[in-house]
Amino acid sequence: MAAPDPRWHTLAPVEVPDALSTRESGLSGTEAAARLERYGENRLSDGEKPSVPTIMLRQFRSSLVLVLLVAAAISLAVGERVDALAILLIVALNAILGTAQEWQAEQGMEALRRMLGLRAVVVRDGRESEVDAGVLVPGDIVLLESGRKVPADLALLSSTTLQVDEAPLTGESEPVTKVEGALPEETPLAERENIVFMGTTVVNGRGTGAVVATGMETEFGRIAGLSRRVEEVKTPLTRRLDLLSRRIGEMTLAVAVLVVLIGLLQGREVYELFLTGVSLAVAVIPEGLPAVVTLSLAVGVKALMRRHCLVRHLAASETLGSVTVICTDKTGTLTRNEMAVSMIALPGGERVEMEGRGYDPTATFLVDGEVVGPDAVPGLPAFLRAGAACNHASLSVDEDGKPGILGSPTEGALVVAAARAGIRREELPAIEEEVSFSSARKRMTVAVTEGGGQVAYMKGAPEVVLGHCTLVLAGGRVLPLDERWRRMLQGDLDEAAGGGLRLIATARRSMKAGDDLEEPDFIFLGYAGILDPPREEARDALALCRRAGIDVVVITGDAPATAEAVARSVGLSSTGVLRGAEMDAMDDGALLEKLRETKILARVSAEHKLRVIDLFTREGAVVAMTGDGVNDAPALKKAHVGIAMGVKGTDAAKEASDIVLVDDNFASIVAGVAEGRRETDNIAKFTRYLLSSNIGEVVAITGGLLAGLPLVLLPAQVLWVNLVTDGVTALALGVEPAEKGVMHRRPASPAAGVLPRRAAAGVVLIGAAIGALVLMVFALALGAGEERARTLAFTGLVVFELVNLFNFRSLHAGILETGVFSNPFLIAAAAISLLLQVAAVYAPPLQAAFRTVPLGGADWLLLLLVGLPLLLAGESYKRAVGHGEKKKERR
Ligand code: ATP
Repeated sequence: MAAPDPRWHTLAPVEVPDALSTRESGLSGTEAAARLERYGENRLSDGEKPSVPTIMLRQFRSSLVLVLLVAAAISLAVGERVDALAILLIVALNAILGTAQEWQAEQGMEALRRMLGLRAVVVRDGRESEVDAGVLVPGDIVLLESGRKVPADLALLSSTTLQVDEAPLTGESEPVTKVEGALPEETPLAERENIVFMGTTVVNGRGTGAVVATGMETEFGRIAGLSRRVEEVKTPLTRRLDLLSRRIGEMTLAVAVLVVLIGLLQGREVYELFLTGVSLAVAVIPEGLPAVVTLSLAVGVKALMRRHCLVRHLAASETLGSVTVICTDKTGTLTRNEMAVSMIALPGGERVEMEGRGYDPTATFLVDGEVVGPDAVPGLPAFLRAGAACNHASLSVDEDGKPGILGSPTEGALVVAAARAGIRREELPAIEEEVSFSSARKRMTVAVTEGGGQVAYMKGAPEVVLGHCTLVLAGGRVLPLDERWRRMLQGDLDEAAGGGLRLIATARRSMKAGDDLEEPDFIFLGYAGILDPPREEARDALALCRRAGIDVVVITGDAPATAEAVARSVGLSSTGVLRGAEMDAMDDGALLEKLRETKILARVSAEHKLRVIDLFTREGAVVAMTGDGVNDAPALKKAHVGIAMGVKGTDAAKEASDIVLVDDNFASIVAGVAEGRRETDNIAKFTRYLLSSNIGEVVAITGGLLAGLPLVLLPAQVLWVNLVTDGVTALALGVEPAEKGVMHRRPASPAAGVLPRRAAAGVVLIGAAIGALVLMVFALALGAGEERARTLAFTGLVVFELVNLFNFRSLHAGILETGVFSNPFLIAAAAISLLLQVAAVYAPPLQAAFRTVPLGGADWLLLLLVGLPLLLAGESYKRAVGHGEKKKERR
């Protein structure tokens, strides 16, 4: 909600706090809480959340329910009240189950949305802290920096070269400069440069602003309110499943028509034929499938969260399971992102080693193994000062009194190094102008006032900084940076990077009035080597990828030699390194060929990432790509699975991603792949299981009709089996633990779909066997009356299904390998299914609904014995297929 005065752009920065009853030191905690109460949360309402009745109504939208309702009406019309009631009861049960499942999935997603919510840095009670952007209120003081998303509408109080991308609001793709200061009242919205709007992204510089509007009262909120609509997101998986059911539906419609024709020729009663038609329709459609899929994906989201992957789209977990290429960053993913300067090389040839770990400010400087004071090395103080001045990080102390840094680890390492020489960041002059660091520019430049004039400081990748230098500070003297110097420095740099150090150089120049910040006449001051130790778990994770047939490509903005050293230290094998500039010189064919051998890409930009995704995708690969910068957003969107860094990622990257990696760790990606594979396997398991059950029902019903027998299964009975007994057991298949070899086999082909041809054959065979057994039981028992025969067929179907359940616990392994009791949910589900069937046979109301008669103990035993061969059939099938595959692999 907005604070009272809407003409914020007409106010000067000094007037803004008063108008909002706030101060530069921010609101107090209690005032913020009171305002939150008054103005509400800072959220865009994303359309109405569906209420329970709406979800319930949705359950009646399917054509099957329509068929059933018509069937119930006709039954009622011809006086078959019990039939009608049974069908209606089951329709209601279906609606309740579906509603419960959808509601639960919805709740899960809501919890996730909250966790993934935008964060903002706010000043309250004079202290900076990062909070969920949802708690921002008018009057809050918010800090902005490059890469951050603007969390509410803000009136600027101060800024340093602040630029924002307003494309989401205005469609304008060029960054817009924002600066504080009063504007005339008639200034149009798009030109209000003293207001930064919610939903835009900071691409350069920094700023401080006071919140003037939150939630739906922001400009973005107003637009969002206009175009609000409920979007139903269909995942590729549900689409594939829809297609599958539609195919089956069409096929069976044909069968049903044929069956009715045959029935008419046989001279059967019309009502009986009608019932048969309805039974068949019900038998064909896997009613429980959509709900089971949604629920299992929702469970998967939780499982992935335990593995530090926050999933932003339901289907991402499944896609993650089928990735064939992972393109990963280096910093933070393969390394720990704990940076410390370990050496400083000055152009005069001095090499200063730094002793002492972490943020210990008492560590010493060594030259040739001797401890020296920082002032004893000419050029060292100048280098350290430049590194600290062109910097946003600061030293901090956490609650336990442990020293640490605030800000980027690379910058923090330089602040710590300077502090060790007594140069403290907070005592240096304030930044007046800035061109922020970005992975694309690989440098950062600032202007400060120092010694009576303006001085520019630059830090960045050494070759980039060198490109802006014409002079060099060597042995305390400023000399021209000629070709000889350049060659020498470059040779040094290559050697230093070979040790895996991340190199960062600094430079300085005095500015004259009217100078551009980045005129190319800087003085080169030297470079630091920053050590970022590799993550130990990355090595195992990489080995696992190799076994799992997943290609890993390291894509980094860092120098080739550094990238290679780090990649090798975690066990990645690659023929050499490819640089971004070399990639540009290659055509697609040559590049693709090169990528077969070369798995390290260095000094690349976001465009290169896009090209790599493109090439791999054309080859039929499923690509996961990590990213953290604003520039990475297009690549994250384009990759099959875009993975944003949770710790060092920008808001823009997170927003464009499918998965946010909580701990930035490569090993978590691989753990996520294993989880995704488990999920994909399980979806295949229960889909096939449910389909085999449906086929069994269709075969029994059609077979009975062709053989001139009475209707084998009533519509209500079939519905009961599909929804209740099968539904329960299918859910249990969804939580099967991962199969032993999940990460020891190649990724499933993305084109294979839920039901590859060979698997389809297996499903049809086992389904036909179930159908034949049901039919046999029915035919043999018919002598003892139709109702008893039907009860036996109905119960037989359930018992056979339960036996068949064990066939689908694993797609590859036999029952001896998986064990009978290794999934307790499955045993419980089987027991529940069985108990429900006992109720259907013995409980009088259900007896009336399903037309069942009580069975004897011997009947149950007999059914079990008849069903057992199904398990043997499944086992031999798996064995035969397994042998076939092994033979193929050997070849
Ligand atoms: P990745 O995360 O993809 O492994 P990276 O993080 O090493 O790559 P970038 O962050 O794009 O790559 O950094 C590229 C280069 O830019 C670094 O090698 C370093 O020299 C320089 N650099 C990094 N951070 C900064 C910074 N804050 N200011 C100036 N230069 C920087």
